[in-house]
Amino acid sequence: MKILVTGGAGFIGSHLCDLLIAKGEEVTVIDDLSTGSLENISHLNGNPRFHYCVNTILNTKVMDRLISECDCVVHLAAAVGVKYVLENPLSSIETNILGTETALKLANRYRKKILVASTSEVYGKHMHAPLKEDDNLIYGPPSTMRWSYAASKLVDEFTALAYHRTKKLDTVIIRCFNTIGPRQTGLYGMVVPRFIQQALRDDPITVYGDGKQTRTFTFIDDVVEAIYRLIKCEKGAGEVVNIGGTEEITIADLAHKIKELSGSNSEIVFIPYDKAYGKDFEDMMRRVPSVDKLKALIGFIPETPLDQILKNTIEYFRAKAS
Ligand code: UDP
Repeated sequence: MKILVTGGAGFIGSHLCDLLIAKGEEVTVIDDLSTGSLENISHLNGNPRFHYCVNTILNTKVMDRLISECDCVVHLAAAVGVKYVLENPLSSIETNILGTETALKLANRYRKKILVASTSEVYGKHMHAPLKEDDNLIYGPPSTMRWSYAASKLVDEFTALAYHRTKKLDTVIIRCFNTIGPRQTGLYGMVVPRFIQQALRDDPITVYGDGKQTRTFTFIDDVVEAIYRLIKCEKGAGEVVNIGGTEEITIADLAHKIKELSGSNSEIVFIPYDKAYGKDFEDMMRRVPSVDKLKALIGFIPETPLDQILKNTIEYFRAKAS
């Protein structure tokens, strides 16, 4: 099968390429390297089943050719990370909305199956758990820029669902929860690579707010396995599906765990949100997925224990630093 991975030089995309190549598929990547990096895919260079193109998904001509040549599109290219979106609000909205519209329009032109990556951000400010795909969504006001990320991805979801409803296009929407593992960078705010790098340098570990907010973390290998199965699954058309781990932890406990697992002498410090993200910031206090639908569709859910994921990721960063 020929699979086009938009955003394939990014963290999730590059691991997906590794899996697809290992499974014997043919892979083409398009990535503008805004947050991805050629280093993530350099080891695949020279493989006759791997091709890449450095370009933007907003380039309709290039996207037209790439989508016409593939069997299935995995659309991962997007503005990622709360910090990145807060620092680049306009280009983030453009990439997320126009980029996905382009990918969907062309997938429809050539009648290609398309998986559209969304995010657990779309759930907004819920406090209950687990979050189910048909839950209501709760956002703050537009003056709080964080919600533009959720809203733009929600527009992507509506567009993909509309293509399915009106054109019978095979679209699957994946809501990825906090995914972690090797190659993820802390540059765009993601908490685990930041804490691990701080811990390995014995720098203060910076917990934002009171640290009582919770997340679940999903191992990248589990996420790409789920995506692969969804590519092959014939029951996902028109569905929105969560991909996430279910082991809930507070961010303060995460800091302690990373400190302990890395044998660090770091101090754990608490930083008010306005110092971390500027004013008008609102965090999501809790985020735990329901994975019932994922299990029903593909017979697989992410289950790698958090300690194991963290140990693996700490080793990666330790090796990278030496
Ligand atoms: N966070 C933190 N310290 C950091 C980076 C993030 O305490 O250096 C917190 C952040 O405020 C949030 C959680 O960790 O409550 C997860 O943040 P991330 O940006 O990784 O993902 P999010 O789930 O917010 O999209």
